[in-house]
Amino acid sequence: MNSVQEKFKKIKRNQIVVILEIIIFDIIMLIAIFTEVSSPIESMSIATIIIVAIIACVVTIGVVIFTIINWRCPNCNKYLGRSIASKFCKNCGANLV
Ligand SMILES: [Zn+2]
Repeated sequence: MNSVQEKFKKIKRNQIVVILEIIIFDIIMLIAIFTEVSSPIESMSIATIIIVAIIACVVTIGVVIFTIINWRCPNCNKYLGRSIASKFCKNCGANLV
């Protein structure tokens, strides 16, 4: 195993962790929204919905920025594209797995 593949292993692991985190975050947000919706009308506040929406936007932007920085070829530093299952770099052809 060479260093490009070792570096890619770390990059892929970080990317998977972030994806899992956003999935868990989404589930928590959905539970929060449904709890809010199913509770009596007077306790349902627009402020809560706005706060949830802002947090969701910030987290999404954070994940996008992280992905742009993290999801790069360890050999040529080009963005690897949308597939998490990339086996080689489309730019330099380096084997990633
Ligand atoms: Zn490359």
